[in-house]
Amino acid sequence: MPFAATLLTLFPAMFPGPLGLSLAGRALKEGLWSLEARDIRDFATDRHRTVDDHPAGGGVGMVLKPDILAAAIDGTPHVGPRLLMSPRGEPLTQALVAELAAGPGALIVCGRFEGVDQRVIERRTLREVSVGDYILSGGEPAALVLLDAVVRLLPGVMGKLESAAEESFSDGLLEHPHYTKPNLWEDTEIPEILLSGDHKAIAAWKRRQREDLTRRRRPDLWARLQAKNERGEG
Ligand code: SAH
Repeated sequence: MPFAATLLTLFPAMFPGPLGLSLAGRALKEGLWSLEARDIRDFATDRHRTVDDHPAGGGVGMVLKPDILAAAIDGTPHVGPRLLMSPRGEPLTQALVAELAAGPGALIVCGRFEGVDQRVIERRTLREVSVGDYILSGGEPAALVLLDAVVRLLPGVMGKLESAAEESFSDGLLEHPHYTKPNLWEDTEIPEILLSGDHKAIAAWKRRQREDLTRRRRPDLWARLQAKNERGEG
């Protein structure tokens, strides 16, 4: 069975959105993955179709009601882990993306307002995932980011497997810089080594570039890699 993405959202029209185009869109049309976006509001029970209420204990904004969200989760067939896009979740990493891509699919709950009632997170075991240390107005763009990253790893989606293997983060290093023709452009040349045809020297150059870049731009990633090497896992 192809990877099945099931979304719970108040804005199903946001899907597939950008995922209906380019690489992910082609894969969707070819049936390499599937997407279903259900409107949480369809599970509301009153005539105003209410999905949110005031926060207990006071405070600004509104909170998604646990009964309605649980009904949406229980009433929507899905496979794989249940995720909740949330700024206080575990950071989305390439390792988590790969883990999800290796599974049968995921249910992704997109929050709105101030968030969702804590009890539904616990009772429906929602795994909270964050796309970064900033606040979006809703979980939908975060879900699009997550799915974009997952879909490109699915079998048959990307042309060349190598292009995934060498990328930033796949081995803890950022990627080396890229160049293409013309060889001379605005008085700057492509690094000579890349035109030398010496594949071993080129590979060494790329490695060096990746290490330098990671050390300078992402000391956090670099430190993690050093620690891993010291433990003999590198
Ligand atoms: N009051 C919350 C923010 C709510 S933002 C707080 O301070 O933590 C509304 C919704 O947008 C959230 O429920 C979540 O689903 C989504 N969202 C916002 N920022 C996000 C992020 N960085 N990663 C993932 N989801 C996010």
